[in-house]
Amino acid sequence: MASLVLKDINKYYTNTFHAVKDLNLTIDDKEFIILVGPSGCGKSTSLRMIAGLEEISSGELYIDDKLVNDVEPKDRDIAMVFQNYALYPHMTVFDNMAFGLKLRKMSKEEIQTKVNEAAEILNIKELLNRKPKELSGGQRQRVALGRAIVREPKVFLMDEPLSNLDAKLRVQMRSEINKLHKKLQTTFIYVTHDQTEAMTMGTRIVVMKDGIVQQVADPQTIYEYPANLFVAGFIGSPQMNFINCNLVEEGDKIYAIFGNNKLLIPTNKANVVKAKDYIGKDIVLGIRPKDLYAKADATFPNEESTFTARIDVKELLGSETYLYLKLDDIDLISIVQPNLAIEIGERIEISVDMNKCHLFDKDTEQSIL
Ligand code: ATP
Repeated sequence: MASLVLKDINKYYTNTFHAVKDLNLTIDDKEFIILVGPSGCGKSTSLRMIAGLEEISSGELYIDDKLVNDVEPKDRDIAMVFQNYALYPHMTVFDNMAFGLKLRKMSKEEIQTKVNEAAEILNIKELLNRKPKELSGGQRQRVALGRAIVREPKVFLMDEPLSNLDAKLRVQMRSEINKLHKKLQTTFIYVTHDQTEAMTMGTRIVVMKDGIVQQVADPQTIYEYPANLFVAGFIGSPQMNFINCNLVEEGDKIYAIFGNNKLLIPTNKANVVKAKDYIGKDIVLGIRPKDLYAKADATFPNEESTFTARIDVKELLGSETYLYLKLDDIDLISIVQPNLAIEIGERIEISVDMNKCHLFDKDTEQSIL
């Protein structure tokens, strides 16, 4: 069990490339923290600095209030699970899991007990005598987790541990790692570029871009209140629709205007006063695909904020349908009920649930509402 404090941490590679910029983060004991962001944003570098595998250029890293910048990886009481599992190919599963314990000169009996306990938790007892090449990807992943578990570390670090697994197994392992976290009651820090993994696994998500933290919050908050355009576009699938608009005030109402279209900004939005600062200015309106409704849809909610768009592509996914819409030169996606009687090329009326809309400053890209 451990808490971590990352204070103004920076990483420069080759003295010039600034890979992680002023990273500040407090991770509580037993948290499941996800570092998420596109390739190259500095997630792995951050994790490796926590592990001690990468030197911290400046800033301070504390584990349980102890400054560990200069503490060797093996003395940090953390275990790391890598994307490629890093199992020893010539050793059995048992020996792979026991390896770290043998180095610590633990007794044979104790090693046996710990490996068996971990194998029980991970459901790999029957695999203990096999070599890694005799295992499936999912089983290898479990062994890699097992090797970390037996060490009973204070912190588990995982770097894209599921990325080599097929889609179905990934979903299964996602929930197994979640259960493991609950069972072990230990701090987990997990790196992924996959927003679905981030949303389904973490108690808190750290969204990164270009070495800079964009937002830190629980999954629901990140989804409902993205701090900026990047987070709004990165989290959520299919991604949020963005429309460049101008805000205008008519009487006591505020509208977002684009082309000949006009959408009413609801006055019940908590921060509507802030939107007033943007009257006459260009903003970006964000609407999630599920908040764009086709008129033909039984759930059409709003007669006031509508526009017409052409259906470019229709993707039937069984439980729902994605409509790819074209409105002048704007591309939009709407999620609608399956079996809607509308065809590609048709122009349909779209209604927007403006209570769910997001507004962003066009220059700073920060959220306004
Ligand atoms: P990915 O999802 O692709 O693994 P990431 O977010 O984990 O990406 P990092 O591996 O942390 O990204 O890399 C951050 C940046 O630092 C990248 O631009 C990368 O090219 C650079 N980088 C990483 N390791 C080194 C290194 N040893 N020397 C120089 N630059 C490096």
